[in-house]
Amino acid sequence: MTVDTHMPYDEALARFEPVLGLETHVELGTASKMFCGCKTTFGAPPNTQVCPTCLAFPGSLPTANAVAIESTIRIGLALNCSIAEWCRFARKNYFYPDMPKNYQISQYDEPLCFDGYLDVEVDGRTVRVEIERVHLEEDTGKSTHVGGATGRIQGADYSIVDYNRAGIPLVEIVTKPVEGTESLAPDVAKAYVTELRETLRSLGVSDVRMEEGSLRCDVNVSLMPRGASEWGTRTETKNVNSLRSVERAVRSEIERQAAILADGGRIIQETRHFHEDTGVTTPGRSKEEAQDYRYFPEPDLVPIAPDPAWVATLKEALPELPSVRRKRLQAEWGVSDLDMQAMHNADAFDLVEATVAAGAPAADARKWWMGELARRANESGVALAGLPITPAQIARVTELVASGALNDKLAREVLEGVLAGEGSPDEVVERRGLRIVNDEGELSAIVDQVIAGNADAADKVRSGKIAAAGALVGGVMKASRGKADAARARELILEKLGVSE
Ligand SMILES: [Zn+2]
Repeated sequence: MTVDTHMPYDEALARFEPVLGLETHVELGTASKMFCGCKTTFGAPPNTQVCPTCLAFPGSLPTANAVAIESTIRIGLALNCSIAEWCRFARKNYFYPDMPKNYQISQYDEPLCFDGYLDVEVDGRTVRVEIERVHLEEDTGKSTHVGGATGRIQGADYSIVDYNRAGIPLVEIVTKPVEGTESLAPDVAKAYVTELRETLRSLGVSDVRMEEGSLRCDVNVSLMPRGASEWGTRTETKNVNSLRSVERAVRSEIERQAAILADGGRIIQETRHFHEDTGVTTPGRSKEEAQDYRYFPEPDLVPIAPDPAWVATLKEALPELPSVRRKRLQAEWGVSDLDMQAMHNADAFDLVEATVAAGAPAADARKWWMGELARRANESGVALAGLPITPAQIARVTELVASGALNDKLAREVLEGVLAGEGSPDEVVERRGLRIVNDEGELSAIVDQVIAGNADAADKVRSGKIAAAGALVGGVMKASRGKADAARARELILEKLGVSE
């Protein structure tokens, strides 16, 4: 594999303006496939979810999945698209061993949804990404090439194919060219895919797992020399399968294309592959034009003509979209943009919201999730939501702190116990004996004992050096193993030593 020269990013940006385009494929989470009744369970044994229709046996006929059409319209509505009053499926003709029909049922010049937009926040700035189209098609099967070093067909001993995925409803969301993002192009691409994923998740139409391929992103990049008015030739980096890779792929393509153009070369219109390990792209195949696919209207399916009244009902019933939700939560919680961003990055909104719903004050809920729990999640390399603790349990801990039964230090120990599987917060308090010493007699006895053992400090306090009381409070906390109420202990110490503040 030869690695192309890359121009340093800043230099590339000084000489060229990047133009982005993003094509995202989303597998819908329908119970059955797009044109037959086969199940769509991920990870089933190969070729167990197939039938004559999705294997394209002669005489089998497709029937469109109504839920898939409804989901696609809901996606379109959430992306502010117009919904076609009448449109058709089209055959896209090409040969792929994992596509039994030798054509894909897709949509061509009559997409179900078109002309929308999605606003994304980058660096405190709102960037509107315009959506060209949202159309519905079917997924292909999956080929596995065995014996080669790279998993590619070249050098493989043989290939096997699994048709379970063939015919799963797939929605393709295509942006219009995104201009003017300048050096933020990689961040805009990442923010767009992130926002799109959250929007799709809020609609409940897909499990949007990039690592399992239910959300796949192709990234188009072209460069325009400064002062030029025509776009350059674009490349399409296929199936970039993580948010971080979307950002890295755009950056790498900008640097690579800039080096070629600066050297007087020209960009080849082609698909490229992004390599997670090296962070660079390598060539795939030269890119076909739409005409190469010989599209024609699918003769085995009736046109789709969604009733505008039904579409209006779907629009009415859309859930709260992520951007609207973020604004609402920010107002309810009264937090800064920066804190919202941190919670967003940590995927903490659901957790904090559920903790507040379970009775915790927002500031406490946020403090625990973004502080102690974020630290522990980070240490054990899991997502916040993957920690073995529930929002209701956090709410209970905040309640125990508010009632004076726990202080912050003890609360942290309780969380540690819950995370270690020792039971509910109350059980951990009980088992570890963590309740604060709020029995006045018990506390008084500890204070006496500490004063007796620290005569020097006690004398200093008696002579008016009240700062020295800190050492005594520390002694009480130590003697009570952190379970004393520090403020009350201080009061008692001063009282017993006959001084007042
Ligand atoms: Zn089938």
